[in-house]
Amino acid sequence: MGDLKIKKEDIIRALSTVQEPDLKQDLITLNMIKDIELGVGEVRFTVVLTTPACPLKERIRKECTDAIHTHVDADLSVVIDMTADVTSSRMGGTLLPNVKNIIAIASGKGGVGKSTVTANLAMALKQSGAKVGIIDADISGPSIPVMFGAEDMQPMVSQMDGKNMIQPIMQYGIKMISMGFLAPQDNPVPWRGPMATQALRQFFSDTNWGELDYLLIDLPPGTSDIHLSLVQLVPVTGAVIVTTPQKVALSDATKGLMFFRQPQINVPVLGVIENMAYFTPEELPDNKYYIFGKDGGKNLAIKYETQLLGEIPIVQSIREAGDDGRPAVMTEGIVAEIFRNSAELLAQQVAIRNATQEKTQTVQVRV
Ligand code: ADP
Repeated sequence: MGDLKIKKEDIIRALSTVQEPDLKQDLITLNMIKDIELGVGEVRFTVVLTTPACPLKERIRKECTDAIHTHVDADLSVVIDMTADVTSSRMGGTLLPNVKNIIAIASGKGGVGKSTVTANLAMALKQSGAKVGIIDADISGPSIPVMFGAEDMQPMVSQMDGKNMIQPIMQYGIKMISMGFLAPQDNPVPWRGPMATQALRQFFSDTNWGELDYLLIDLPPGTSDIHLSLVQLVPVTGAVIVTTPQKVALSDATKGLMFFRQPQINVPVLGVIENMAYFTPEELPDNKYYIFGKDGGKNLAIKYETQLLGEIPIVQSIREAGDDGRPAVMTEGIVAEIFRNSAELLAQQVAIRNATQEKTQTVQVRV
């Protein structure tokens, strides 16, 4: 077949046979193909993915190439650029219109590693090319500043359009704000519910977040006023539940999960992360000791029909990295890989949620 006769329409027709594996629609219908250019013996185009670290990237690339070779010309050279445009769960709204997805990170109990998981997921999403922010709303012990080596930093306030706006701290390319920045570490303020709600409101309405793909909210353990305030203040894309494998932790995690599933709250649960899933000495990664029990997170995910986004081992370097103020995912090795994999799965769930479920609305207070 001579390539002179090839038209853009032929390429479009061929690509309309390629399905996005998660979203189960073809790439043309999903508007994922841009900038088709035909040259001599060559076609170039861009595939716009819905997550930067799309785990299916290479599969999509191959299927596009195969479709063009099958339906258009077997000898055509196919050059594909991959970019990403993270989809949004928002309907617009006045608060943070440029933040596409707000993700609540919750746990049933304290100390299960919710902040560690938040910090590492945020960093892994950033590494994949996304714009990421964190709100540390865990008044029971705001640890995000320490985990990012930012405990001595203070957010600045500056005037924007005649309004005083908090400028989030920027550390390792992630914008963050914490209840911890508002209270000195050595003189913690005992947060009362209304004060904490007021602080959270300020983090949404008076903070200059700019454009973000993902804003992660590190919530206090259990269910609290903060949880309720969050879903009333902003439309939450979905929630991630962090748990450890013990029975007691799992029963609390279930309560945390059910909070988001209440009909009047109606925030999708994007998945479960089992932290401290097993102990492994870093030099012997194949030796796994299930000291807190096995498969608790997996069984929870199955029972409540949600995804298991990861099983994170207990590794000394995860704790050290947290204390040193550089999330473990910033090092190379198995631990980084495990966190990156969880972040990919999370981004994938966000994309599926945005393609298949209704936009989120804020929860209305009923009086
Ligand atoms: P939470 O936010 O649920 O209260 P943290 O994230 O603050 O819990 O974690 C509590 C402690 O456990 C921290 O010292 C942290 O470094 C450590 N930790 C958390 N997850 C792991 C892990 N997978 N391996 C080793 N230490 C961990």
